[in-house]
Amino acid sequence: MRRAHDVTIIGAGIIGLLSALELAQTGRTILILERHRAAMEASWAGGGIISPLYPWRYAPAITALATFSQTVFPDLIGSLFRTTGIDSEFLQNGMLVTATSESVEALAWGSGLQQLVSEISIDEASTLEPEVCLHKKALWMPKIASVRTPRLGQALRQACINHPLITLEEDASVSLEGTVVDPVVYVEGRRRNTLVVVLAAGAWTGGLLDALTTNCPIKPMKGQMLLFSVCNLVSRIVLSDGRYAIPRLDGRVVFGSTLEDVGFARTPDRAAFESLHQSALEMIPSLKDVAIEAQWSGFRPGSPKGIPWIGPVSERLWVNSGHFRNGVVLAPASARLLADLITGRSPIVDPNAYQPKDMR
Ligand SMILES: Cc1cc2nc3c(=O)[nH]c(=O)nc-3n(C[C@H](O)[C@H](O)[C@H](O)COP(=O)(O)OP(=O)(O)OC[C@H]3O[C@@H](n4cnc5c(N)ncnc54)[C@H](O)[C@@H]3O)c2cc1C
Repeated sequence: MRRAHDVTIIGAGIIGLLSALELAQTGRTILILERHRAAMEASWAGGGIISPLYPWRYAPAITALATFSQTVFPDLIGSLFRTTGIDSEFLQNGMLVTATSESVEALAWGSGLQQLVSEISIDEASTLEPEVCLHKKALWMPKIASVRTPRLGQALRQACINHPLITLEEDASVSLEGTVVDPVVYVEGRRRNTLVVVLAAGAWTGGLLDALTTNCPIKPMKGQMLLFSVCNLVSRIVLSDGRYAIPRLDGRVVFGSTLEDVGFARTPDRAAFESLHQSALEMIPSLKDVAIEAQWSGFRPGSPKGIPWIGPVSERLWVNSGHFRNGVVLAPASARLLADLITGRSPIVDPNAYQPKDMR
């Protein structure tokens, strides 16, 4: 087959863009096809916490990827800044977990993995975050960081545009035809020849695979967020009863999130606004005087256990999708694992847990 690129990646969210950068490092030529503009869907909407929420609740397959990513994130952000001039605002100020009765599980998980987790008193917690409402001891994870997702997305987009082996085509909506063994990529009716196709279309991955009569359980799980105006009320991530506040470097606070199984209904709604606002005031009462600048929604690529598919469906059709609530923290490891598998390198983690065949 005459082909223009070695690998065609469908979808330019954080997963598609990082996969392209990893694969280009191995000398492959890459075409990324993005329906709209790169990194404007879940990868824009996400809070950017570089850890699963309550990480001890997750399967070892998630922990393995998250641990790898956490070690490489500072260098990734630094190198993106040097090559693109865009600062993704990596902020490693730690995460305070309040109102939890899971100290035993958290401490056991932390000691097994050399992850720093400690239980601290109400006084110690309020020294860290004086504006946060506290009723009992808290958990403190000093190494947890966050990034400003829209900026990380723009830095990754620019890094791909700058890369001599990567072509990013935006406004290029893909349809697939053929079979999983012999997939054919079309953009607006025109066929694109490629050796390998990688599906990184987030919550839309299932729709693409439907066309190849392959059932894929990834479905959209809507999340809504609020953005509070500059207030400098917290300087660490605070997690309480499943809701979280994330400080930004400019003093704004992002507050999230809802988890809704409502398909692709995009419009943010009043009920979510009120529920998030109430949770925010319960966590940080002084937010009552702070203006809300924005409310938005995004579609997490929801997989049944939150474990992404990373691997081949066939020799020519690959998937890197289904990262659910953790696509930002899992992205560097997922992209690296995909590149390891495509190029036959020794994989960074055991790939078995992520094989598409096991996720049905
Ligand atoms: C409210 C919210 C908060 C979150 N907070 C966090 C957090 O704090 N930490 C964390 O780790 N994760 C978080 N997440 C999850 C994380 O954002 C996602 O898991 C991650 O962004 C998924 O990345 P992706 O590249 O797979 O998907 P996306 O970013 O959705 O990208 C998929 C891309 O594919 C494109 N596409 C779809 N169909 C086609 C087609 N036919 N042709 C061409 N292109 C197509 C889309 O336009 C899109 O650009 C959050 C998510 C939400 C919604």
